[in-house]
Amino acid sequence: MGLLFGSFLNVVIARVPAGESIVHPRSRCPRCAHQLAWYENIPVLSWVALRARCSSCGLPISWRYPLIELLTALLFLACQRRFGWTPELVAALVLVLLLVPLSFIDLEHWILPSELTWPGIAAGVVLSWPMGMGRVRDSIIGAVAGFLVFWGMEWLGEKIFKKEALGAGDKDLLALIGAFLTWKPLLAIIFLSSLQGAVVGVAMLLIHGRAGPAPAPEPAAVTPPATAPGAETPQAGEPGPAQVAEEQAHTREDAEEGEEEEDDWEPGPTNIPFGPWLSLAALEVMLLGPWLRGVLPEPLDLLLTGIR
Ligand SMILES: [Zn+2]
Repeated sequence: MGLLFGSFLNVVIARVPAGESIVHPRSRCPRCAHQLAWYENIPVLSWVALRARCSSCGLPISWRYPLIELLTALLFLACQRRFGWTPELVAALVLVLLLVPLSFIDLEHWILPSELTWPGIAAGVVLSWPMGMGRVRDSIIGAVAGFLVFWGMEWLGEKIFKKEALGAGDKDLLALIGAFLTWKPLLAIIFLSSLQGAVVGVAMLLIHGRAGPAPAPEPAAVTPPATAPGAETPQAGEPGPAQVAEEQAHTREDAEEGEEEEDDWEPGPTNIPFGPWLSLAALEVMLLGPWLRGVLPEPLDLLLTGIR
């Protein structure tokens, strides 16, 4: 089940940021539009059998596809081992199905789409129902607390440091985590995510000169036709390079005017996408919480109070 759902998450990761339907059309090669046959769409096995290339045009297929399928399968297995066949297992599996795509979308595009986070918050509250009304109450408190804690931190950050410290979607993600795991482990999750994000971020900064991944390139702009030597004067009727560049500048302006909601913020070298770190900490606390409480030294295990 984890492999099959992981295969579906690959579709979510590729299509939700582009605003495309996750149901239609069927999976295709992004270069040659070759529609995948059923035997080319088997989790992990097809990728290995095809030797990571499109059977039609030979375009390499990213290792991210089998990785996400395997990761989802392992997390499903871990959830079953942790919760057994209980209502908590259903909630845990749905949380995995939200955190995996949100993390990979944030790593690539530096956004946490509200198409995933907002329905996710509702799902977290609804799936608490079978665990009793006390859990529903804690879930709602968790969603509100998660949102307010980051909202407050953002407000403080703007007052003190005069700069935006958290992305807008991080508030929604912590609210989602609070809805699924209740308010009780939120402090531990904020602590663990900041600590791990800072350690890895500083290491990456020292090694690669960037704490986070490089921002995804702009959607492929039409490159001006390369002028061959001896053919510098464009033929009549064809646009010259300067003209093409000018047209591109216009389309770029139009595009920017069309998307007023999106700011032109670019991740700097010291920025990290926080979504994957919040997700990792939430999964660690959910799956390893009781074990962590046992191994952490005295003052730190207080952070995990309330985790069964
Ligand atoms: Zn192809």
